[in-house]
Amino acid sequence: MKEHSNFIKTIMAADLESGKHTKIITRFPPEPNGYLHIGHARALTINFELAKVFGGTTYLRFDDTNPEQEDIKYVNSIIEDIHWLGFVPEKIFYASDYFQEMYQRAILLIQRGLAYVDDQTAEEISLTRGSLTEPGKHSPYRNRSVEENLTLFDNMKKGLYKVGEKVLRAKIDMASPNMNMRDPVIYRISYEPHYRTGSEWCIYPLYDYAHPLEDAIEGITHSLCSLEFEDHRPLYDWVVKETQMPNVPRQIEFGRLNIENTVMSKRYLRQLVEREKVTGWDDPRMPTLSGLRRRGYSPEAIKEFILATGLSKNNSTVSREMLEAYLRDDLQTKTAKIMAVIKPLKVTVTNYPEGEVEKIQTLLDPQDESKGFKTLYFSRHLYIDRDDFLVEKPNKRWKRLSKGLEVRLFNAYFIHCHEVVYDQKGEVKEILVTYDKETKSGTGFTARRPNGTISYVEATTALKVRFNLFGPLVFDGEEPFLERLNPNSWLVEEGFVEKAFEGIKEAVQLMRIGYFIQDNKTEKRVLNRIVELRSSYK
Ligand code: ATP
Ligand code: MG
Repeated sequence: MKEHSNFIKTIMAADLESGKHTKIITRFPPEPNGYLHIGHARALTINFELAKVFGGTTYLRFDDTNPEQEDIKYVNSIIEDIHWLGFVPEKIFYASDYFQEMYQRAILLIQRGLAYVDDQTAEEISLTRGSLTEPGKHSPYRNRSVEENLTLFDNMKKGLYKVGEKVLRAKIDMASPNMNMRDPVIYRISYEPHYRTGSEWCIYPLYDYAHPLEDAIEGITHSLCSLEFEDHRPLYDWVVKETQMPNVPRQIEFGRLNIENTVMSKRYLRQLVEREKVTGWDDPRMPTLSGLRRRGYSPEAIKEFILATGLSKNNSTVSREMLEAYLRDDLQTKTAKIMAVIKPLKVTVTNYPEGEVEKIQTLLDPQDESKGFKTLYFSRHLYIDRDDFLVEKPNKRWKRLSKGLEVRLFNAYFIHCHEVVYDQKGEVKEILVTYDKETKSGTGFTARRPNGTISYVEATTALKVRFNLFGPLVFDGEEPFLERLNPNSWLVEEGFVEKAFEGIKEAVQLMRIGYFIQDNKTEKRVLNRIVELRSSYK
C-alpha cells in the first residue's frame, strides 16, 4: 500500500504541513447489520495503516442508525473480526449515542430555514425529484414556517404519526445537477425497537445526514469511504457546514475491492444466509472474515493480499487466484506435512508379519527441520488412494502403482503389487503387495528406481476423517445471482489421515491433496480444505 497510497497520503501530509490538523484521525464505520467481509479488510487496512503512517489514530464506529436490521450479535462479530485481523481501534463509538445531538442539529437547520417537514409519500417524493436532464418539483410543504416545522418535527419525535406519514427534508436546491442535493430526506419515522436505544426514539437520521455529523462529533480529520459515496460529498460538506459543526472532516473516496466469482456485498451475503443457501455467516465458503477464518485463512494471508491489491481511486476486481496465491505463500511456510488418503484402497503387504507395527521417525517438513519430527507407521495393513492405482495396463507415463509395478511409499519402503482382489461387482476391493526391506527411505538405496512415489497411511493407527472440499459458492454472471449458485461448492469425502495429525490444531499440508484445517465448529474429525496445493486455473 505504501507507494500506491499517494493520493490520500499527499492530502494528509499537506494538512499536517499547513497546520490544518495536528493529528490524523480516521475511523472504520460499519453498520452492524451483518458480518464483515474481505472487502472490509481493505477499508480497515486503509484507515488503520494511513493513520499509523502519520502517528495518528483510528476509531471503530458502529453506524447504527437503522433499527430494522441491526443487532448486538453483529456488533460482537465485527469487534471479534477486527481483533482477529490484528487492528486495535483506539476507541469504540456508536452513532446511536449521538441521536440527541443529531436531533438538536436538525432543529438548528429548521430554525435557519434549511429544513422542512414534508407530508408527501415516499413515492411522491421520488416522482418529484426530477431526472438528470430535468429539475425536480418543489414540495407543496416546502414553504412551511419555521414555527410550524418545529411543531411538526416535535410531533414526529413524540410518535404522533405513522411510518411514512411525514419526513424531514433538507431545503437545498431542487434544480441541482447533483440529485443528492434535491432536498434529501434527513429524518424518517420508525417504530422498530433499536438494539441499543430501545424505543427511546421513533425518528431516525438518514445516512447522508448522520454520517458527516458522526465524523464531525468525533473529530475525524479524514473520512475515507468507498467510491459509491463520491456524489454524496457535496451533501456531506453541506451538512457539516449548515449544522455549524466546529470540526470539519474531509471525505475522500477510494475504490472498492471485488474478487472474481465472489459476492461481496452484505446485501447478497445476507440473502445467502437467510435463504439457507449456506450454513451461516461463517460458512467456510463465505467471503466473510469469520468464514475465511473457519476455512483456514490466517490474518497474515489476508493482510498480505490486501496490501498487494494496492489502493486505487477506482474500483478494482482481482482474480480468486491472486488471493489463493497469497494464501499458499503463507501456508507453505507454516504447515507440517501429513499424509492422508481421500479415497482409501486397502493394501495388504503379504510378506510383512501380522501384528507388527513399525515406527519411522521423519521430519514434519523436509524443507524445514525447525518444525520437528513426526512418527510414521508401517505394517501389513495400509491404505493408498484409489487414484494412485490403475487396474488397466498403464502406459509409460503412469508414474504410480499398478499390478506388476513398484512404487515408493513416502518416507517408507518400495512396494510391488502382485495381485488385485475384486468384489462381487467386479470392483477392486484390495490389492496385495510385497515390500522390500532394503529400500527403506533414508538408507541410500539406489539399486532400483521405483515407478514414482505415492502417499499412504498405516491402517491400524490411521484416524478416520471427513474431508470437506470446497469450490466457488457463486459464479460471476447475470442477475438474479441466486441462479448462479454452484451446486458442487461443498463436496464431502470420507477417508483417513495418519496418526501424526492427532493433536495438531493448526493448518497442515496433506501431501499431494491440499492444505487443510480442523473445522472449528465440529467436535468430530472434520477437515476443511483451505486450498489446493497448486492453482487449477488454466
Ligand atoms: P452493503 O453491501 O450492505 O452496502 P458494505 O459492504 O458497504 O454494506 P458497510 O458496513 O457499509 O458495508 O461498510 C463499512 C465500510 O467498509 C465502508 O466505509 C465501506 O465503504 C467499506 N467497504 C465495504 N465493502 C468494501 C469493499 N469491497 N472494498 C472496500 N471498502 C469496502
Ligand atoms: Mg455500504
